[in-house]
Amino acid sequence: MNAEAACILVVEDNDDNRELILKVLELHGYRAIGAADGAAALAAVEYEVPDLILMDINLPDMDGLDVTRIIRGREGFDQVPIVALTGYAMAGDRDRSIDAGCSEYIAKPINVRTFPRVIERLLAARAKH
Ligand code: MN
Repeated sequence: MNAEAACILVVEDNDDNRELILKVLELHGYRAIGAADGAAALAAVEYEVPDLILMDINLPDMDGLDVTRIIRGREGFDQVPIVALTGYAMAGDRDRSIDAGCSEYIAKPINVRTFPRVIERLLAARAKH
């Protein structure tokens, strides 16, 4: 990335996972913001429109897909890539995520080596709009 670092919102209630993802993103030059639940995620998007959102599906207060639907409905959020993160590889999870408005689906645990490339690709795809 260049002068203006892309801003990525990481919604994940597991502290270790969230810290790992934030660290990996920061190491790759992104500005990363953490949110530990749905309410914190909705509060974070009041302040700015991130360039990308990583959304854990299982949150303590809300279903991550419901959080996704709410964010998608907000003005200025129709083009923001939202990537669903889920720890269980349940059949149909991907479809449910896409139906809720997610752009992509990543199974946890994240692969620290390939993860930054997925992020880079999603941000590049968005830049073309
Ligand atoms: Mn979770």
